[in-house]
Amino acid sequence: MAATSAACTRSVVSSPPQSDSDMSASSRRRQRGHAHLRALACCLVALMCPASAFHPRPSLASRARRGQGGRSVSSGGEELSINILRRQPPTYVEGGWTTLDLSIFGGAKEDTDTVTPERPLRVIVAGGGIGGLTLANALKKHGINYEVFEKTPEYREFGGPIQLQSNALAALEAINYVMAEEIMAAGTKTGNRINGLKHPFTNKWIAKFDTGSPAIRSGLPLTRVVDRPALQATLKHHLGPDHLHFGRSVIGYEILKNGTVAIDVSDGTRTYGDVLVGADGIWSVVRAKMMGEKWSDATKPGYETSTYSGFTVFTGVCKHRPRDVNEVAYKVYLSVDQYFVCSDVGRGRIQWYAFINQPPDTVEHMLGQAVPYLLERFTGWSLEVTDILEATLEENIQQRDLYDRPPAMQGWNKGPITILGDAAHPMMPNLGQGGCQAIEDSYQLANVLKNVKKRSRLPFALGVYGTPRLWRSAVVQGVSRLASDALSASAPLFKFPPVTIGVGAFMSFVYLPLLFTFLYMNPLSEEDRKTTMQRMSNLAEYEKGKSQHEYKTVKDAEKELDRKDAVWSRLDKEKGRFEEKPCPF
Ligand SMILES: Cc1cc2nc3c(=O)[nH]c(=O)nc-3n(C[C@H](O)[C@H](O)[C@H](O)COP(=O)(O)OP(=O)(O)OC[C@H]3O[C@@H](n4cnc5c(N)ncnc54)[C@H](O)[C@@H]3O)c2cc1C
Repeated sequence: MAATSAACTRSVVSSPPQSDSDMSASSRRRQRGHAHLRALACCLVALMCPASAFHPRPSLASRARRGQGGRSVSSGGEELSINILRRQPPTYVEGGWTTLDLSIFGGAKEDTDTVTPERPLRVIVAGGGIGGLTLANALKKHGINYEVFEKTPEYREFGGPIQLQSNALAALEAINYVMAEEIMAAGTKTGNRINGLKHPFTNKWIAKFDTGSPAIRSGLPLTRVVDRPALQATLKHHLGPDHLHFGRSVIGYEILKNGTVAIDVSDGTRTYGDVLVGADGIWSVVRAKMMGEKWSDATKPGYETSTYSGFTVFTGVCKHRPRDVNEVAYKVYLSVDQYFVCSDVGRGRIQWYAFINQPPDTVEHMLGQAVPYLLERFTGWSLEVTDILEATLEENIQQRDLYDRPPAMQGWNKGPITILGDAAHPMMPNLGQGGCQAIEDSYQLANVLKNVKKRSRLPFALGVYGTPRLWRSAVVQGVSRLASDALSASAPLFKFPPVTIGVGAFMSFVYLPLLFTFLYMNPLSEEDRKTTMQRMSNLAEYEKGKSQHEYKTVKDAEKELDRKDAVWSRLDKEKGRFEEKPCPF
């Protein structure tokens, strides 16, 4: 009997809602009639069977009770039967979400608009990158059903470790405190050290900046760098495997007459949800379709509306310990048409980026010969730069042309479809904020969705999420883009010492403090501010350092750096190291 029931329910499952345009009126009537008969038969069978017949495997039953069903076709029918008997929440089974409209049995028409514990919101997330995984964790916290579809069977990392800045860490803490602690423990604290801009030929500081003070003013955790695989593994671990679908990409969607979103997946299946979130990166299919853009097999979705930044980036990680590593986290060396960025990423490693102004798709600098190519391009630069390049193995270098896109002023949602992360605001990596903004997006989107009581209000709710996020991320996008253009355009000025001093003072005391105050505004809602308030109430213990080399404040690090710098420059002069080179521009 149980087997019959399972077979019947499976056939109900495989009859997804169709768009009106797909069917003629008569075939619609015919199908509806068949579906009603099948559903009636299944329910009769289900009601006649003892409940125990639907508990062939305890794990299945317990999963169904939680309203987070299994994914295999063989289990789908059994779980759906349990839902019919107990009016459990809709269950995701292979090919889509399922609920039965019991009004077909003559009962009152079910209210499908109201979000209830029995009929929670169903969110489909396209893309399991930093944004998609963070969103799934935030939805899980609020008890909202989700399914994440990720194109790649397994992650390929680009760019080595990632800077998770104070604003993003605070959002992660609010989503799942234990998870955030694990991520922070896996990372290396850089927010208690000095950062700055240096002259590539004199090796002198042009400007210094401090990310610790603005974080402390807002009660946020100090910035860290974390290896991407460690970050993704932790985000994944806290979700569990049940609702993550790897190797399955979203290829299109359709909004049905009843407001449900039907999502087409690359393996030919269709899935249904109340909301579709495009967290599928800069070449987002969801964004391109939502914006009504066309693309062909030869071009990526959204290619037409993207902008080449003018820069390609080589990036690598090497084993190296610069002498100022305890005091300095992040250094930028500026020149015309190219700049070099490096940062301590922990465990004796330095991560670096060489930004070079050149046309896109330039293949003359093939990987495999990157070190000699870069050493030639950076000839005469500070030994701090060339030492790092020489310490890097070819296999640890990657290259990518950098694209971004102007802010999506038309808004981030169309009906129940919305976007986040790079799909919404691809940006230059100059501020290290792309992933951080994706995390902020995810936190805010889940906060808005948790308050949705009626499905018909979803388009409005998604607007409430998207509008403030659009403005904030547009500023970050703009500043990130301006940074590369302004940095490389203003480099020639740095051969005039008074200009260097003036620009340096403006950046150190006005521009950069204002920028980080904006970036590190506390992004949390009032109810989530407990941790940040606690931190602020005990400034003496604020992220107290564990290691003897860890400075408590950036001011302490800067004081020590000034003392050491004086000694180093005397020793360098004696040894002929770091001689001032003639400025070639
Ligand atoms: C050199 C460099 C350095 C950077 N450094 C930093 C930094 O220090 N700090 C920081 O915060 N940010 C940094 N960024 C930016 C950061 O990497 C991105 O902003 C961040 O990864 C965006 O996350 P996302 O989830 O929106 O998109 P992505 O990370 O691009 O993830 C999108 C995911 O969607 C999947 N996908 C694509 N299409 C589909 C589809 N159709 N269906 C299903 N899945 C799909 C992809 O496989 C991918 O896994 C850097 C970027 C670069 C290039």
